[in-house]
Amino acid sequence: MEYKTIKDLGDLNGKVVMLRADLNVPMDENFHVTNTARIDRTVPTIKELMSKGAKVVVVSHFGRPEGKGDMKNSLSHIVKDLQKALGHPVVFVDDCIGPKVEQAVKAMKGDEVLLLENLRFYDEEKKGDEKFAEELVKPADVYVSDAFSTAHRAHASMVAAARLRPAAMGLLMEEEVNALSKGLNDPKRPLMAIVGGSKVSTKLDLLNNLVKKVDKLVISGGMAHTFMKATGINTVNEANSLVQMDMIDTAKDIMKTAKENNCEIILPVDVVVSKEFKPMAEHKTVDLEHIPAEGWSLLDVGEKTIAAINKQLDETKTLVWNGPLGVFEMKPFDNATNKVAEHAATLTQEGRLMSVAGGGDTVSALENAGVASKLSYISTAGGAFLEWMEGKELPGVVVLKK
Ligand code: AMP
Repeated sequence: MEYKTIKDLGDLNGKVVMLRADLNVPMDENFHVTNTARIDRTVPTIKELMSKGAKVVVVSHFGRPEGKGDMKNSLSHIVKDLQKALGHPVVFVDDCIGPKVEQAVKAMKGDEVLLLENLRFYDEEKKGDEKFAEELVKPADVYVSDAFSTAHRAHASMVAAARLRPAAMGLLMEEEVNALSKGLNDPKRPLMAIVGGSKVSTKLDLLNNLVKKVDKLVISGGMAHTFMKATGINTVNEANSLVQMDMIDTAKDIMKTAKENNCEIILPVDVVVSKEFKPMAEHKTVDLEHIPAEGWSLLDVGEKTIAAINKQLDETKTLVWNGPLGVFEMKPFDNATNKVAEHAATLTQEGRLMSVAGGGDTVSALENAGVASKLSYISTAGGAFLEWMEGKELPGVVVLKK
């Protein structure tokens, strides 16, 4: 591993370890946590550190606070859930820096964990302020980072703080970085990417990076329409369907780069067209030359395309996936996403495919398909996952290099 992990931190017995976690959980209007996944995923690292005799002080951001004292965005709301998931008492401190924190750290008892208040109550956090980072790490001997989802931001707790103490990644970040490295940095080939979703313009960096790295690139969803138009399929009508006319030349450039890099681009060969943009709207599957000239929108790809993608998957060893193949939020336009997801899940379960997916709506699309736990790795790290797929270095990961 080219990054420092907890093992590299040496003897932690009696040491104060500050853990930068991502506890930015969803919450309802009564401040009840509605999904504890992020809390649950942090627990193994806390337990691992405690088992080594460390005193663990947890810090995190939460929501979009409008300054200090914004109780709506206080991490105090998650104490109960963290305590329950951990099985140890959690002591909350209503600040993340200053004398209160220092006193609380000194008063920590053996089986307790300290949770500090929202880092983003201080503007300095987002600015990556060095002085704030110094204040933050003051009571800590060692720094551990598990917040992969924030690793694309050079915030104070992600970068500056990690430079001020011996630092390493926690179990969660280690797992994420390992899975993602197997996906793109050091993949078994053939390597295929599936990119879907709505617009070419939001995925330019992604596409440009992928065509240089992958052997095959499936382009689907609304963004495929622009590529289809760029290949001369004029039946795709921008009046009815999502087409970015100002991106046609860009799509041509991407296809040219793909050719130069021996990357095969796979576009839809048939589509599901619908009279209206609503669930269960009147619809039919047509070949590209039979797309109706007026009044029908392209909302999914058809069975021939699904079969073609699944056949390619059979010959693939590694898959990276971002973006749904159609308008998965509305039945039956989730059909292609579901069928390809099911096939990828089966191949993964049979040990024939390593599959990594994530970013934006992809997690909900794959949950909707019922395969979220059957792929090799689903990253919930949104923006950080996408930046990694775009080939960018993530400052919060780079800082933990050996
Ligand atoms: P993105 O956030 O770019 O990954 O896009 C995800 C969105 O793309 C989802 O909300 C899908 O409904 C949408 N999408 C996928 N295929 C189509 C399509 N053929 N037409 C319109 N929107 C689509």
